[in-house]
Amino acid sequence: MHSPSVNIIGAGLCGSLLSIMFAKRGIGSCVYDRQQDPRYSQVSAGRSINLAMSARGLRALRHAGLLQQVEPLLLAMRGRLIHKDDGATELQPYGQRPHEQIFSVSRATLNRILVAAACERFGVDMRFGQEVTGYDPDRGQLTVKNDDDSSTYTITEGPLIAADGAGSRLRRAFASDSYISPTESLLPHSYKELSIPAGPGGRFQLATGALHVWPRGGFMLIALPNPGGDFTLTLFLPNDGPSSFAALDSATAVSAFFTRHFGDIMPLIPDLSETFAANPVGILGTVRCRHWHIGGDLLLIGDAAHAVVPFHGQGMNLAFEDCVVLDEILARGDQNWSTTFEIFENRQLANANAIADMALENYVEMRDTVRDPGFLLRKALAFELERRLPGQFIPRYSMVMFHDEIPYAEAQRRGELQQALLEELTTNARSLDDIDLDAAERRVETLLAASQ
Ligand SMILES: Cc1cc2nc3c(=O)[nH]c(=O)nc-3n(C[C@H](O)[C@H](O)[C@H](O)COP(=O)(O)OP(=O)(O)OC[C@H]3O[C@@H](n4cnc5c(N)ncnc54)[C@H](O)[C@@H]3O)c2cc1C
Repeated sequence: MHSPSVNIIGAGLCGSLLSIMFAKRGIGSCVYDRQQDPRYSQVSAGRSINLAMSARGLRALRHAGLLQQVEPLLLAMRGRLIHKDDGATELQPYGQRPHEQIFSVSRATLNRILVAAACERFGVDMRFGQEVTGYDPDRGQLTVKNDDDSSTYTITEGPLIAADGAGSRLRRAFASDSYISPTESLLPHSYKELSIPAGPGGRFQLATGALHVWPRGGFMLIALPNPGGDFTLTLFLPNDGPSSFAALDSATAVSAFFTRHFGDIMPLIPDLSETFAANPVGILGTVRCRHWHIGGDLLLIGDAAHAVVPFHGQGMNLAFEDCVVLDEILARGDQNWSTTFEIFENRQLANANAIADMALENYVEMRDTVRDPGFLLRKALAFELERRLPGQFIPRYSMVMFHDEIPYAEAQRRGELQQALLEELTTNARSLDDIDLDAAERRVETLLAASQ
């Protein structure tokens, strides 16, 4: 049976939600985080200010009984609003049913709500300003520094749950361990956040209801709305080369780059060069592990187990799904921590690897492929096939974003089959009129039946 208390490292999105789910099951937890309590402090500038929430994240909040509280903070985005080189715009809807939209949400507000609920409604013991400085896997011993007086102490009681994010100190303690075998693959691209403030009277200065994208081939700029009427802009750019962060090394270079590539919104970004110089460049990468747990003593979860690049907007959604999956396993109530962690790993590891791959692919789609007429035709055909064969043919993007009942690995598998077929059916076509849709429908039925 489960021991009554768990130590969770990290009161971020995953750790705080997990502590709530544990509390609802009567499992006490103590949560340690190196940051100050987000209820009383500001997050630092430049760190993914808002996030796109989709079905898996919404499901987790509903599961924890928190959706009602978060819902009023969500700003709907029903498609990508593409800003072309010539300044023209084009809306590419994400789905074709009214509920098929994603939502912009403030990371800081969401984290604050989770921490407040954990502490104030569920009595979770959260300790802030407590930084894990080391972990000895052989002794199962965690060293923690108390920021108040710089004293250190150790924790040996398990089980220990590492929800300490992409740079997880606990995971890195296993860097040379062949069982956990963690790898961190950095993308040769990074990101920088900027913003467009609200206009007079708190008015949005760009169209709302969409995620704005300026695809420029090897790089892109995106914008997500915030409840205050402002937009957070994120520039994704190679680290080196002609159009790169390394090349943007002066105010003149920044100004010339934005004038050339993003001239339509440049006037909306105040003090562009100064903000660009002041805001940090964030790295992007993928974390994979062979295993996530050591018996019943330790479990890696959320970004600590499987950070993914943000181009499918799924890192938080996956971390929240982890919490639901773990909670569903706990609901069976008859197994020890070791078995619980093993079942969890068996259910989620292939899914995490699948969304890691799909997120990398989506970077190419967002910054480049969306400009290709062939992409738009394949998307139109996918929507047509979904209308003809509802529940059977579901575009891959929709499976990932709107169908939380379809595991990521299954979305990837079906997506590959469907993509090959879409490419074949559109090879010599310029519009849907050039395609025999009845024959296409039969092909899909045969293909999907054979692949069950
Ligand atoms: C630019 C960008 C955009 C993104 N956009 C999206 C999006 O649109 N949709 C989406 O679903 N996901 C998105 N993500 C991913 C998302 O941010 C993460 O997947 C999510 O934050 C993971 O939650 P977590 O709790 O596992 O980690 P984190 O949120 O990173 O939380 C980790 C916590 O651990 C604490 N911690 C770290 N080290 C220590 C230590 N040594 N001692 C004590 N405490 C420690 C930290 O203070 C933090 O509170 C984006 C990420 C980036 C970088």
